[in-house]
Amino acid sequence: MFVADAHCDTLYAVAIHGKDPAECMITADRLEKGGVGLQTFALFAGAGGPKGHPYENGQAMLAARDRLGVPLFQDALPDAPPETPHGVISIEGGEMLEGSLERLHEFDAAARVRMIALTWNFDNEIGFPAKGASSEGLTPFGLALLREMDRLGILPDCSHLNEAGFWDVVEHAALPPIASHSNLKALCGHSRNLTDAQVKAVIEKGGFIGVNFYSCFLRDGGGATLDDVLRHIDGIAQLGGIDALGFGSDFDGIDEWPQGLGDPSAFPGLLALLEKHGYTQGDIEKIAGLNLWNVLKRAENARKV
Ligand SMILES: [Zn+2]
Repeated sequence: MFVADAHCDTLYAVAIHGKDPAECMITADRLEKGGVGLQTFALFAGAGGPKGHPYENGQAMLAARDRLGVPLFQDALPDAPPETPHGVISIEGGEMLEGSLERLHEFDAAARVRMIALTWNFDNEIGFPAKGASSEGLTPFGLALLREMDRLGILPDCSHLNEAGFWDVVEHAALPPIASHSNLKALCGHSRNLTDAQVKAVIEKGGFIGVNFYSCFLRDGGGATLDDVLRHIDGIAQLGGIDALGFGSDFDGIDEWPQGLGDPSAFPGLLALLEKHGYTQGDIEKIAGLNLWNVLKRAENARKV
């Protein structure tokens, strides 16, 4: 079965932390074992925020991409989901663009960016983070960026973004909003998770929500198990999200995860659990990868360049 993952920090671990690609949670071998046909690799702006050289970090990650040992789709996606592991590039933390549409074009030309998390955990030129007190929405530059992302077919990723920014995306973006790696706030109260109203808005617009495997986003206080992953999947499905659900593992960016879910080779076990839990084969195929694939194809087809 085709599996797709909307978020990981492997490139950051390799390029910025100097980790050996073979020592990462995500390796080409494990992707193959897990049936992962499409792995989204984020260019993460970095924990230093706008002052931490996010643009230079992005360039360093681009320079390291060949070391992953996973071929990347840096032009058009194929017609059908790939049967062997491939990657696509995203941006996490819009400060990497330094408030400039030229930077956006530069990254897109270099690697075909598929989605941009408009903020990480800092205020930036685009908007304000969920981890913060601001109730302000997107800046004028943020709104201009959305228009250009629509033209380039780049999905607006609202994981990490504050609520006011989220509703601006819902109102102003032509492409559907996504949350590449966020869970349900009703089940785990972390600021990084989504309210029911946000989840419903994503669903209504035909967007995507990738369930995050970080223990602290799965259960209040951490110590999450596979049952907690199921709770969040069930919760999003019950809000009408069977066509929006998927995975945003956050592998190589997390230090605590449910036992048995520590790398991509665990996906078949998780999918077997969904089957045991009563999901149909068709639903499992959607959650496993088709929903993410479909929204990526939709974005690509909207590209006007
Ligand atoms: Zn993140």
